[in-house]
This record gives sequence, structure tokens and C-alpha cells, in this order.
Amino acid sequence: MDAVGRNIFSVVALRKIIFSVHHLPKDMPNYWKTIKEFAGTDATIPEIQTAVQNMEFLYQEAFATDEELLQKICKESVGVVLMSYQKKCRSCGANLVTRGDRSRKLVLYTESSGTLPSLHFRKVCSKSSCNFTQHYGYYSLGE
Ligand SMILES: [Zn+2]
Repeated sequence: MDAVGRNIFSVVALRKIIFSVHHLPKDMPNYWKTIKEFAGTDATIPEIQTAVQNMEFLYQEAFATDEELLQKICKESVGVVLMSYQKKCRSCGANLVTRGDRSRKLVLYTESSGTLPSLHFRKVCSKSSCNFTQHYGYYSLGE
């Protein structure tokens, strides 16, 4: 925020700044100029530097890698969520409803992260006469 309380960084610009600070070598020529151009912000370089310093102090997690965030969500939350993006029944075309009461706890194994807790959600067809169930990566018809 600047002196009049206007937000000078868009969410996209902040995301790009965090990404660049995380991935670009600090001793690279024109480091801050490159970050400013990549972020596409009107903010000045000192404003960007101040914002990065504030974020590094107040919100260190903003600079965490995907791997670190994955470990964190697994330790502090439900783990990896396995739920299809499918919205419509493949059999009759009606909307699918997520069955939150019928989630299954699973343990996944990945080469990079080892074992990870996960939750599998099923989606069922909203039409009562249809017995379609959408799982993560496959579907079934009938009971
Ligand atoms: Zn259906």
C-alpha cells in the first residue's frame, strides 16, 4: 500500500515477484529491473524491494517451494485431495454431487515426497434413478 492506502501491487504482480525472488540468482545483473519488468508493475524498484523485505519478514511461507507447501498441507491438514474435476454425469448428463460424508483416507507413495496422507472424494449423480459414481481417475455404474 502506498501513502494514500492504494494497493500498488496486483495479485498477479505479487505472485510474479515472489516467483522471481525465489528462482532468480540474487547476483544476476539487473536483478530488480528484471523482476519489475517480469511483474509488469508500475511500482518503483525501491517499492518492490520494500514489499519483498516485508514479505520475507512477515510472510516467509510466501517464498516456500511447492514441495515445502505439499509437506505442510500433509502435516497440518487432510493431505493430498483426490477429487475428480468432472461436473456432469457421463451417463445421463445431470450434475454430480460431492459426497463429503463418504471420503476415504488413503496413503499415497510418491518418489519425490515419500508417503503422503490423502483423502479420496467420490461424486455421485444427482439424479436418483442413475447409479453413476465418479471417482478420481475412473468411474463406476451401479452399486
Ligand atoms: Zn447420472
